Amino acid sequence: MLKAFDYFSKATGLVMNKSKSNLYCNGIAEQLIKEIEVASGIKRGVVPFRYLGVNVSPKRLSVMDCNCLVEKVVDRIRSLGSRKLSYAGRVMLIKAVLQTLHSYWARIFILPKTVIGKIEAICRAYLWYGSDHKESPALVSWEKICQSKKHGGLGLKDLHVWNLATIGKYAWWIAQKKDHLWVRWVNSVYIKSTGWMDYKPRMGSSWAWRKICQVKDIIKDYLFTWNGLEKYSIQESYLKLKPDGMQVQWYPWMLNRWILPKHFFMCWLIAHQRLLTQDRLIRMNIAHSNCCFLCGSQEESHPHLFFDYLYIKKCLLLVADWCKIILPAINCIQWLVEWRQPAACRKKVTAMILACLIYYVWQIRNLSRLDGYVWRPEVLFTRVRRDVQSRLYHCDVRSKKANVINWIEYLKKP
Ligand SMILES: [Zn+2]
Repeated sequence: MLKAFDYFSKATGLVMNKSKSNLYCNGIAEQLIKEIEVASGIKRGVVPFRYLGVNVSPKRLSVMDCNCLVEKVVDRIRSLGSRKLSYAGRVMLIKAVLQTLHSYWARIFILPKTVIGKIEAICRAYLWYGSDHKESPALVSWEKICQSKKHGGLGLKDLHVWNLATIGKYAWWIAQKKDHLWVRWVNSVYIKSTGWMDYKPRMGSSWAWRKICQVKDIIKDYLFTWNGLEKYSIQESYLKLKPDGMQVQWYPWMLNRWILPKHFFMCWLIAHQRLLTQDRLIRMNIAHSNCCFLCGSQEESHPHLFFDYLYIKKCLLLVADWCKIILPAINCIQWLVEWRQPAACRKKVTAMILACLIYYVWQIRNLSRLDGYVWRPEVLFTRVRRDVQSRLYHCDVRSKKANVINWIEYLKKP
């Protein structure tokens, strides 16, 4: 045994730190393990143990083993003062922190469905309520949120599908006959002479192996088309596994990086008609009256509040007058979608201004609901102009057309 350690040190040029190393044995008599312990001077370790922040175990990860991952996600939510963030800020945090934590684990282990379900529930509660545990109805379904932006979602990951895509990596290794110790082992123990594509696992096979075979059956149609690829792409596999719905007409709004995230989120909710307007609250048996807070005479609905009502029309006229644009007699989202002007930069700035206006109309509606007073359209217009000018100062205008550059310089003027 001592010779083996010396050989390891010579071969690798590394010196093993025995105080930081542990010995893990399986299928060896207790007496022999003790002898190895004494001879090597390395203490015996117990499984599961933690390595690079994750639990390492020779057995299938139980829900209990993954509790530290769930706790980590909850800790992030509590520690970042994240309750005060806007919806848009929370979406960013879910994408950048919470789902990344899951991806790290999913790359190493096959996670149980219960654990993925728990993390998804935490992300959902956090997005809508800023907390990690609230179980109330959401404004938009999680399934829709996990669609790509082109298909009307927010581009968050569907963790169940992502997990399948990560497991697909093992099926791809076998299909590509990778020179890997694990691949050689499954070929000699499980697959033997049967072809991998037609292979079915035996009844008594382990949970992880059955899971890999199950994913292989789902992705086998395109597994062979990836022949010759150097690396398996989880992202590409995810896109193949995740069925997209219909492409939405208003997606150019979603991809416009000039729109402020909080304005964008509001437009997204309106495009799905999911804001809690009075007509929806009545249908949900929450409100007693469907009357609009701004005019006090008509039913408050999405078309009324954002497209038909005299108040928004006055605001739109003020904005159109300032921006020197001609508004057609259709609602602004429809207008942007149907507007075919070659100057893409001009179109993006117009969308940014309209998104800002829509955001403030909803803010004013909420203020009038709480405090009982309504801003004059001129006040709202001043807020919109201030926000737009501040955004234009921070945006990098890439248009080469003199008339577009002049127009943006004009908009920047106080
Ligand atoms: Zn009204």
